Amino acid sequence: MNKLIKVAEKTYYISGPFHIGVYELDTISYTGKKEVCLIDSGVDKIVAKVVDELLMENGFTVKFIINTHYHADHCGGNNYFKEKYDCKIYSNKFNASLISNFDIAPAVIWGATPIREVLNNYFYATPTPAEDIENFNLPDGFEIVSLPGHCIDMIGVRTPDNVLFLGDAVISKETIENHPLTYIYEIGEHLKTLEKLKNIKASLYVPYHAEPVKKIKPLCDVNIQGIHQNIEDIKRICKEPRSIDEVISIFFNEKGFKLSMYKYAVEGGIVKTYITYLYNEGQMLATNENNFIKWQTR
Ligand SMILES: [Zn+2]
Repeated sequence: MNKLIKVAEKTYYISGPFHIGVYELDTISYTGKKEVCLIDSGVDKIVAKVVDELLMENGFTVKFIINTHYHADHCGGNNYFKEKYDCKIYSNKFNASLISNFDIAPAVIWGATPIREVLNNYFYATPTPAEDIENFNLPDGFEIVSLPGHCIDMIGVRTPDNVLFLGDAVISKETIENHPLTYIYEIGEHLKTLEKLKNIKASLYVPYHAEPVKKIKPLCDVNIQGIHQNIEDIKRICKEPRSIDEVISIFFNEKGFKLSMYKYAVEGGIVKTYITYLYNEGQMLATNENNFIKWQTR
């Protein structure tokens, strides 16, 4: 059961797998209802409808949406709200352009038009016109916090009553234990963001897929630890020269996971992200063995 949970004077979030933020604005719509802004919008129109019912029960109407980033589980509900409320949609410049032109998003995963297994709700959302939040006069007290790494230029949103919505900057301990290869676009940037986040003050932190916390440092440390574990595993696997597909195979076999085409596209890409980081950091060498590019830990 999804619920609208009040966490500060005017800030709420929706419980369930997607922690959508709701902030009660000071304005009233022409229909006489209290206007709110949403922070992210759910994975699809089914989730959006459930959220909308909770909003209607409370007499709320949506004025605008801020998306923390372009991933479809964060902006897949945009189209529902846009059609119903004609609300504006904002993100920063980079993410706004991808939310507006969604075909680029699945291609980021695969490097070309992706295999069909990737074209699901998590990787493809109906494109909705989104604008650069820089050009919008946000109500007083809102703050946009830069949290890059999970994807290029991800943002967090602080509401005027000091609740910080984190997008996917941190995930839960359980997720890290059960799915160690969670999506990260750039490991080095993400590690810097996690270190920075430890010192960002807020009265409550709301990750999109993990329970809200009053103290963020322990969760940042769990996330950093999970990344370092993956780095150690991949460095160990690459003590001998390995192709990317060999690394994926050994990593999955060691953990007892089965590789589906979907996981090959998504989590295989994450293995590539780690190898890219280690190579660019000078911790790994690439050699050409009979036209197989092989990666070896220095
Ligand atoms: Zn994401």
